[in-house]
Amino acid sequence: MTRSLLDKLDRIVIPKDICKALSLAPGSPVLFSVENGRVIITPEDTVCAVCGAQIPKGKSIRLCNGCIEQVAQIHRAEVAAVI
Ligand SMILES: [Zn+2]
Repeated sequence: MTRSLLDKLDRIVIPKDICKALSLAPGSPVLFSVENGRVIITPEDTVCAVCGAQIPKGKSIRLCNGCIEQVAQIHRAEVAAVI
């Protein structure tokens, strides 16, 4: 566990070893959440943009397989209604 201090503007520095472990570079978007009194920092590109489920880093679209399938089902239903 690595220690960091909150500064007077409520900022923290994410320790270098943690940035490296998460492949975070300057400018990388991250999401903050609180779970059971702990702050969770998640690289934004590893969560589904719709439901927040974890997705593999580097995936070209920020949707989980479940959300992709739901969108596909809606699309198929709309196409079927037109035909
Ligand atoms: Zn999803």
